[in-house]
Amino acid sequence: NKTSVALLYGGRSGEHEVSLRSAASVYKHIDREKYYIHLIGISRQGTWYLQNAPSTADEVLSIEEDAQMMISVVPGQGLSSHTGPISVDVVLPILHGTFGEDGTLQGLLEIAGLPYVGADVGASYLSMDKDITKIIWMHHNLPVVPFRSIRKNQTEAVGFTWNALLEDLKKEFSLPLFIKPSQCGSSVGVSRVEKDEAFQAAMEKALKYDRKVLIEPAVNAREVECSVVGNDTPRAFPPGELEPSHEFYDYDAKYVDPDGASLVIPAVLSETEALEVRTIAEKAYAVLGCSGMARVDFFMDRNNGNLYLNEINTIPGFTSISMFPLMCESGGLAYTELLDELISLALSKYKSRS
Ligand code: ATP
Ligand code: MG
Ligand code: MG
Ligand code: MG
Repeated sequence: NKTSVALLYGGRSGEHEVSLRSAASVYKHIDREKYYIHLIGISRQGTWYLQNAPSTADEVLSIEEDAQMMISVVPGQGLSSHTGPISVDVVLPILHGTFGEDGTLQGLLEIAGLPYVGADVGASYLSMDKDITKIIWMHHNLPVVPFRSIRKNQTEAVGFTWNALLEDLKKEFSLPLFIKPSQCGSSVGVSRVEKDEAFQAAMEKALKYDRKVLIEPAVNAREVECSVVGNDTPRAFPPGELEPSHEFYDYDAKYVDPDGASLVIPAVLSETEALEVRTIAEKAYAVLGCSGMARVDFFMDRNNGNLYLNEINTIPGFTSISMFPLMCESGGLAYTELLDELISLALSKYKSRS
């Protein structure tokens, strides 16, 4: 009597490709003695298709867009294909970014009446929008890098000039700056701005991905990350560190260049520092109302050792070289058991609500 899991991957976001790799790795590691897997690939257009079983050797899943295999989501009735309802006990969304990680998919699954792994509608949204995430963290006295957010319509107002905006920002922050879409991931749309001349292009690039953009001073920092797993009593794992070989941890360093970054797991930190990271990570997770899992990303200032929260990812990268599963593993929770735990957390949360 296997538990039936719908593994969702692909999707409409800028991180479609990353999802194909994350899902391949999940498929490879999930215990197929315990779970029956329905693989559902979501095309770039957003259509859901049931997929044939891939080989576990595949590093990247593909999505076959066969009209016969289209899946629909039925309010109150879960999923169905053209041959009728599909029995699903729990959904495992391995989708990053827009329409996967931002609460919209979670809303659809709530309406369908399906339990799912990870943060619920509200926590997903609060965690996806970096502007809102940081406002909540600041309210709870958690340390964040100072920032400003600018909406697209502000840049379209009569009399607006990029120069005036930059001059205004420079009263608060000095260059270099980091510019990023408020809701994105995998460094898509992120730029480091060293010179005034590069400011406008960086803003316009970020505005392509989101109508709201964050501007922050660049922190000369170590990049420390922490996996958190759990519902009401979240548990943080030993932190890891990544050392990008690029100017910053950009998309290529993450996914294209095999030497783009080295991962140090566990991070070389004193006991006190590691404990501080874990404590802040658990609080950061709890105040957003997260459940299931998240990866909390920090900066540790090289000049004074100060720790800042950077962001949280409620559906972190799950590839075989991704920080999230590796940090769990280093804390004693191997990939396969991590998936077991995430599924049981999803089921117990669902039961406790109904
Ligand atoms: P992820 O793939 O981790 O979800 P993301 O697209 O959500 O990434 P961030 O983590 O905020 O975006 O930024 C991507 C990278 O850009 C960081 O890992 C870091 O290398 C760099 N970066 C972002 N903001 C700053 C900053 N204020 N100071 C220094 N580096 C920064
Ligand atoms: Mg992110
Ligand atoms: Mg990050
Ligand atoms: Mg995120």
